Amino acid sequence: MSVVRAKPSPLAPDTATLRLDAALQLLEQSGHVLPSLHAVGRAAWLQAVIDSLCELSSQDPLTGLANRRHFELALDREIDRVARAGEPALVLMIDIDNFKQVNDTYGHATGDLVLKSVAHVLQGCIRPMDTVSRIGGEEFAIILPNCPFDFGQTAAERVRTKVQNRSVLIAPGQEVSVTVSIGGAFAPQRARIPAQQWLSRADQQLYIAKREGRNRARLEVPPMLPSEAESRPALFDTSWFHEAK
Ligand code: GH3
Ligand code: MG
Ligand code: MG
Repeated sequence: MSVVRAKPSPLAPDTATLRLDAALQLLEQSGHVLPSLHAVGRAAWLQAVIDSLCELSSQDPLTGLANRRHFELALDREIDRVARAGEPALVLMIDIDNFKQVNDTYGHATGDLVLKSVAHVLQGCIRPMDTVSRIGGEEFAIILPNCPFDFGQTAAERVRTKVQNRSVLIAPGQEVSVTVSIGGAFAPQRARIPAQQWLSRADQQLYIAKREGRNRARLEVPPMLPSEAESRPALFDTSWFHEAK
């Protein structure tokens, strides 16, 4: 890691007692450019420091995607919205298949390139209101608010094929490509569920996708509102929806 020498704090004497050196060093190292203190004034400059730190703390440094912390906040916000507005929302868990083999065969640096490439593909697959995050080593997640079931199926399948069709140039004439397995689950409408429960349902589908051979997308059959479930009890297993309430 390169060492960046912190610049002296440009704050006026009354706020110079704030110990900002470490924060400014971190921001400089991560490429954040702050506005000039003289141009914007002290309050706006401090606000820019705070905003930049918030951004930094919610970003995955390797891929630039949202990190797990940001993902969990976005998921909680989505659960609130679903409970309030009743819009269907989907979470997709995406795991690169046999990624250990990529590292073992080509080295960790190439593995990192592949992670960045997959992140780039995922970013290109989403709508502006969706949130895509890197939530673990080779694991990603997408939250899709206001997502009808058919659209969810299409979106998951589009992610899967786009990753499959993308290859990374790792040396002249040498390309690597990977596939992903995807598991998805819808949040029950107008019901508040713990985030962990929603995620573990998507995770169960991911597990099934892996078990069925990888490079596939599996979505849980969406829950129905109680009124629909009562009129068509044989069509879907709604026991988990009732458990979740
Ligand atoms: P599966 O299809 O079952 O998901 O198999 P897998 O090999 O993808 O899964 P496994 O959990 O066995 O291996 C994941 C690998 O991801 C192991 C770990 O070294 C690698 N990994 C995790 N984080 C990073 C990272 O930031 N960079 C690189 N290059 N590799 C990473
Ligand atoms: Mg994994
Ligand atoms: Mg994997």
